Amino acid sequence: MTAAGVIWWLGPVAVAYMGNRFTTDLPYCPECKTVLISEAVATGKMAEVERILEDK
Ligand SMILES: [Zn+2]
Repeated sequence: MTAAGVIWWLGPVAVAYMGNRFTTDLPYCPECKTVLISEAVATGKMAEVERILEDK
């Protein structure tokens, strides 16, 4: 769980998006590994991922 006062850790987490699996740095709860993906973060990360995929 992510109680108030939990300090989010930033680290590489595995994410699946549009059939692609990749690892990226995102904030996560060190206790239960819940990944914090805000809309802004998701949008930025997905744009980044789409660029990576296009470069292939
Ligand atoms: Zn938690």
